[in-house]
Amino acid sequence: GLSNRSEEQVSGAKVVAQALKTQDVKYIFGVVGIPVTEIAMAAQELGIKYIGMRNEQAACYAASAIGYLTGRPGVCLVVSGPGFIHALGGMANANMNCWPLIVIGGSSERNQETMGAFQEFPQVEACRLYSKFSARPSSIECIPSVIEKAVRSSIYGRPGACYVDIPADFVTLQENASAIKYKECCMPPPVSMAETSAVCKAVSVLRNAKQPLLIIGKGAAYAHAEESIRKLVEQCNLPFLPTPMGKGVVPDNHPNCVAAARSRALQFADVIVLLGARLNWILHFGLPPRYQPDVKFIQADICAEELGNNVSPAATLLGDINAVCKQLLEQFAKTPWQYPAESKWWKTLREKMKSNEAVSKELASRNSLPMNYYTVFYHIQEHLPRDCFIVSEGANTMDIGRTVLQQCLPRHRLDAGTFGTMGVGLGFAIAAALVARDRSPGQRVICVEGDSAFGFSGMEVETICRYNLPIILLVVNNNGIYQGFDVDTWKEMLKYQDASIASPPMCLLPNSHYEQVMIAFGGKGYFVQTPEELQNSLRQTLADTSKPSLINIMIEPQGTRKAQVRIHWAWWRYTPLI
Ligand code: ADP
Ligand code: MG
Repeated sequence: GLSNRSEEQVSGAKVVAQALKTQDVKYIFGVVGIPVTEIAMAAQELGIKYIGMRNEQAACYAASAIGYLTGRPGVCLVVSGPGFIHALGGMANANMNCWPLIVIGGSSERNQETMGAFQEFPQVEACRLYSKFSARPSSIECIPSVIEKAVRSSIYGRPGACYVDIPADFVTLQENASAIKYKECCMPPPVSMAETSAVCKAVSVLRNAKQPLLIIGKGAAYAHAEESIRKLVEQCNLPFLPTPMGKGVVPDNHPNCVAAARSRALQFADVIVLLGARLNWILHFGLPPRYQPDVKFIQADICAEELGNNVSPAATLLGDINAVCKQLLEQFAKTPWQYPAESKWWKTLREKMKSNEAVSKELASRNSLPMNYYTVFYHIQEHLPRDCFIVSEGANTMDIGRTVLQQCLPRHRLDAGTFGTMGVGLGFAIAAALVARDRSPGQRVICVEGDSAFGFSGMEVETICRYNLPIILLVVNNNGIYQGFDVDTWKEMLKYQDASIASPPMCLLPNSHYEQVMIAFGGKGYFVQTPEELQNSLRQTLADTSKPSLINIMIEPQGTRKAQVRIHWAWWRYTPLI
């Protein structure tokens, strides 16, 4: 009746925004359109930062990186159907990485369901393979509790992606404001600890190790376990190996870091403590020939189902990495123990590190042009600020870059990750730059991309320029995927046949001026071919915090080989990859 009508009304869009605000969501990334534009605007009104991106996939990568870096989920806001489907790549990547993420998808109107509505798609069902939780509130009153559950599910237990579906008709539908009850902000996850007997077992196995090794994964980084792991490393004098994103939990330049002897360390260790790292392809499954057949694993993870994957562990520590490491420290404190520095194992590892480091130094010092990967990374490393974020993707660019670029701080490296996803770089860099802007202005984000990797979301350069994020994009350009042609070979090939028949599938346009993309939107661009040009451009971009920049670094398209065109259509199959 009349009294109802005079009550304060609130739209579904505003309820979504308020529920996110109540759950302490700080960032939304997305691409607006029908029916979610109002949600983005309502969120901004409440002071939630909205970053409009150029593709939902990149938006989703950015939101997931916020989750990893801050421990609270970022939100990716997408329209129904195709926009939603673009975001699935980002959800899959977040879920595989065990990073918290909330995706909010507009969907078609409830009363047009199954009628062939505009951009209609079974979105809640589609998310099941990509998420921990996927739901659609049945009324506006239900929105706050569904969003709270999504946030909670994303950070409790093994972190992951969650989906909330918002039908188009909810967005503008008005509801009595007093009917909406907001759930309290979800607390950080309760801390779980390992069984005492498992801790004792783990410590006794370690004490008897002849060739021990700690492996530090991104689960340890996510858990903020840096202090306790460092103590464990130092008090027990244990060699450690970080996984790609585990780099920096204990600094790469720590004397106990044996990253430069990675293969040797994995192959001959007799006891391995896994701290928040899975025995998947990145760690060669924990199986021979990359490991000893009788190596004993001590596995620590927050996810019970993970324990025992691929190997039969000697001890299983189910719990939060930081808490578990403190338990190990307490147990060791009862009868202190230190792995002897004079052991044969330490000697072997040190020798191997020395010889491996000498090889990459030699490669870096070669001054032939075009430059090789090692020369490029050597100069980048020389200029990197100690506290910068490093984002990296590409095949050789990421693999070789990881071995040269040093990480001193935890959670400061973002890369293709568990899923090996290419195209994550610019979204990750945007998220890192926003976190840096909030926490410590002046801190830089260096995004090291292969030329192919850059292409997946290159238009996000516009986003970077629009929000004036002083990101430094380095495109390590070899004219292709894995490898490419130099300009002359490319031209010669075109004389014979059209490129769609004759170009090796990995070739990209040689000498592409990617720096012009940055210049087009008002940032700074550099095209560099020599070590001197590389040094100068790095110096200039690092000195200028007012603008984003892109340095396009030309390197050998074919490694040490000179390409040859003696046209057999499949000649390139016989050219070994660099
Ligand atoms: P990496 O790629 O660095 O080897 P993975 O993603 O394979 O790392 O493994 C990370 C592991 O860390 C996952 O199995 C995940 O369940 C676990 N994990 C995440 N958060 C925590 C935490 N707080 N405590 C313990 N383990 C965690
Ligand atoms: Mg390339």
